[in-house]
Amino acid sequence: MTLPDMHAAEPIPDAARAEIDRLLQSGDLFRYTAASDAPVALLEAEFAQLMGSKYALAVSSCSAALFLSLKALDLPRGARVLIPGFTFAAVPSSVVHADCVPLLCEVDETYRIDLDDFAAKLPQADAVIISHMRGHTSDMDAILGLCGAEGVPVIEDAAHSLGTLWRGQKIGTIGKVGCFSFQSYKMVNAGEGGILITDDADLVARAIIMSGAYEHNWKKHPVLLETFSRHQNKLPLYNLRLNNLSAALIRPQLDALPQRVRDGRRNHDYVAAQLNQSPFIDVPAPLDGEERAPDSIQFNLVGLDDATVAAFARTADTAGVKVQVFGQSADNARAFWNWQFIEDLPELPQTRAMLMRACDVRLPVRLSMSELDAVSEVLLGAIAQVTATPHPAVA
Ligand SMILES: *Cc1c(COP(=O)(O)O)cnc(C)c1O
Repeated sequence: MTLPDMHAAEPIPDAARAEIDRLLQSGDLFRYTAASDAPVALLEAEFAQLMGSKYALAVSSCSAALFLSLKALDLPRGARVLIPGFTFAAVPSSVVHADCVPLLCEVDETYRIDLDDFAAKLPQADAVIISHMRGHTSDMDAILGLCGAEGVPVIEDAAHSLGTLWRGQKIGTIGKVGCFSFQSYKMVNAGEGGILITDDADLVARAIIMSGAYEHNWKKHPVLLETFSRHQNKLPLYNLRLNNLSAALIRPQLDALPQRVRDGRRNHDYVAAQLNQSPFIDVPAPLDGEERAPDSIQFNLVGLDDATVAAFARTADTAGVKVQVFGQSADNARAFWNWQFIEDLPELPQTRAMLMRACDVRLPVRLSMSELDAVSEVLLGAIAQVTATPHPAVA
């Protein structure tokens, strides 16, 4: 069985070429040069429609979208933002960038927010960022219920969740703001880029101005004029805009999204069933109500000590499949103890225990069934080798 290149990003559809060529010839790369219909503006209109949201603002990254969301909420300096203890370092970083203080809550062995710890810490929070880490959705009904009762706004970090549904509702449309990433290892690949969506006209007007719609450039965004004029000259301009070339890379990929979501889910569930045959591997089941759009797989190693966990990752790696155990390297940006820029970094014993056993493997949506078999074969072979047990047959 031949192993695929597991590291390559999604190729850019040919449909992008003509528009990129046109942009290269005209040099019209800045979103606010054209009087109307700039590629970035078209992307915003299409993305808002795709998600069923009133407004969208495309920016330079999901980190920028998270930062602007916090700024647009007009939180006071030092406001506390509750985030999960399992997420990418970009999330606490955006909180610090917005002059706020990250407050971390525990995550359980299914990679979801521990709702007891969340409820206990919520009264100290001025805002919440729910990070759907690697596309895993926490119980959004419970979270929205708790936050609604406390009057705490919810930002969804859906960087890695484009296409995921929660009880039929699109992830990123459940909280007050949803933020997505177009970085290369996400479902839509523009190298870098991000977008935020919301139904709140005032919030998006503030975010648009702060993203760098200086002077009267906000007139090129479809929000009521009086909403904008209220904020004229009153907000800082952080210049986190997206350029037209990035939008030209992204727009044709939105058409490919439904197919990518279907393929990603099929691939994930196929490999999950194979891995779950091993008594040493547990792929957590989806939450009731969750329909995922995965381009990677996470699983826990069961009943193995640190040395065996490390040997498993090494063995799989040597055989051609990169396995990242979140907690087993000194620099993993998803291990909370490496976020040492946070003052008084707390200990989260439950999240730490999960990170020490949780494995992360990329599963690009373009993989074929035989390539998926080859990946499972490597992982099951590695676990058999390090535990000196026979391994279950693959397909
Ligand atoms: C990738 C990612 C981010 C950051 O996205 P950028 O566009 O690279 O800033 C934030 N949160 C999660 C969960 C991510 O996976």
